[in-house]
Amino acid sequence: MYRSFSLILLQFLMLYSIGQDAVSFHPPLKIPMYLSGNFGEIRSDHFHSGIDIKTQGSTGHHVFSVEMGYVSRIKVQANGYGKSIYIAHPNGYTSVYGHLDRYRDDIADYVNRIQYKKQSHTVDIYLNKETFPLEKGEFIAYSGNTGGSSGPHLHFEVRTTANQHPTNVLNYNFDIKDNISPRFLSLFLYPMDPKSHINGKGEDFSCKLVKDNGIYTIPYGTELNGSGSLGIGVEVFDYLDGAPNRCGIYALEMYVDNKLAYSHIMEEFSFSETRYINAHIYYEERIRSSRKVHRLHRLPNDRLRIYMPQAGNKALLINEFRTYPVRIVAKDVAGNSSVLEFNLKGIELIIPNPIPVIDDITPMKYQQSNSFEAGPVKVDIPPNALYNDLEFTFQSLPPASGSLTSFYKIASSQVPIHLPYSLSIKSPSIDPALHSKLLLVSRNRENEIESAGGSYSDGTVAARLRKFGEFAVALDTVAPRIISLDRSRSDYTGKKEMRFTISDELSGIDTYEGYIDNHWALFEYDPKNDLLFYNFDEKRILKDSIHKIELYVSDSKGNVSLYQNTFTW
Ligand SMILES: [Zn+2]
Repeated sequence: MYRSFSLILLQFLMLYSIGQDAVSFHPPLKIPMYLSGNFGEIRSDHFHSGIDIKTQGSTGHHVFSVEMGYVSRIKVQANGYGKSIYIAHPNGYTSVYGHLDRYRDDIADYVNRIQYKKQSHTVDIYLNKETFPLEKGEFIAYSGNTGGSSGPHLHFEVRTTANQHPTNVLNYNFDIKDNISPRFLSLFLYPMDPKSHINGKGEDFSCKLVKDNGIYTIPYGTELNGSGSLGIGVEVFDYLDGAPNRCGIYALEMYVDNKLAYSHIMEEFSFSETRYINAHIYYEERIRSSRKVHRLHRLPNDRLRIYMPQAGNKALLINEFRTYPVRIVAKDVAGNSSVLEFNLKGIELIIPNPIPVIDDITPMKYQQSNSFEAGPVKVDIPPNALYNDLEFTFQSLPPASGSLTSFYKIASSQVPIHLPYSLSIKSPSIDPALHSKLLLVSRNRENEIESAGGSYSDGTVAARLRKFGEFAVALDTVAPRIISLDRSRSDYTGKKEMRFTISDELSGIDTYEGYIDNHWALFEYDPKNDLLFYNFDEKRILKDSIHKIELYVSDSKGNVSLYQNTFTW
């Protein structure tokens, strides 16, 4: 008894001390903090795990450690966070700084040494307490635009060190002003089964919302009646002071008949669950119109921790002839909130127009493993890969330019899938020497062919995929292109860097290896700009002399290009 009490007391004191320390972070930048993105906002296949701090359209701003601690991890990657630093703090948090332009000199030297030792641009280094201990507010790096960043900014995260869960940065004491309430843009209603309907139709309904006397509502004259099981969705964003950017809301609640029917709150999540965002949003709407619509009911296989169990989080069931008052409240962390109110009239259940029967439907239960086979195509879906039961459809379509086989429509690109499934398509008979160059391709909305990966084995081309859509077999025998961007390719005297454009048609750039005077040299790849560059490094090559460069770039199907030259520097 005494033991468990003291344990609880200890846990309480630990939580208390974490909470106390948390309110005294140093700002990560010296410039005023305006955000282009916030915690939990809807991104593609994930929730945003930090905040994006605007850096006045430029790179090179000093970045500071928000608390004392030590550099615990340094990751350099072509995509994602680009150059990033993780700092572990004694208060139980880890802060993360992404898209950095460069590290401060001693950290940069350390990273460079490891890159040269491993002969790799991309590295993921875990460090102990002794290597780079830091004071609170100590300078660590320069802000930048590296990795998957679409403009200069600092991506900043606060994680709980023990489980690496990102937490809502706006809950801490950073000076980020928000006096603006969330704004509702549109309302969506979806019949959840063939017997349900909205305004007499078994189809989705959506309308723009208006603000009347401080409350959002449906436009004057719009009537909403329905019956059966209806899914409700809203397009709603938060805005912060000093920036026009659409940010994510913190909490969303729905009341029907003045009772809480749905509630979620963005405090924390794990990276292993962030992909469940595709269950949280109306995924089909995202694919169809790029709109980000919060679904106000939880799908059976949506395992996000953000939902409040005291709300039912179920689709609305309309089974009485009466008015159902609906009230939806959106909140931000600063305490601003907005309200959307409308009435839904329950009317008699009518049988909607008969839905055309598609005979190729295969019912699939989401908890089970599901397989489908038709002619040259085989699909294997593991248990719990789907968010809901699916009426699986399959269609054979004509080949397109660039494909070796017909296109096969597997379910629909508007159906989300959580776990990878396997798709195999029988290979056409070709020269066995080309088998290693076979891959699956998909077709996007513009009808362009894109690599879906995969490889040949035993007469089929198979890949593990996380998207449904239209797929075919194709061949990639074309090596990447390497084009020098420098005016003089033989004389780099006085120059700081050497720059190339590299690109690949189908399977995509896989490796890039540069050698100067037969020694591996650090070439950095920036995929968003198709850019490959080398910074001349006095410590590693001799100044004012003639050098030889060899640059190998390969795609994912092993097609290699070589650029060779001699130059003075
Ligand atoms: Zn970010």
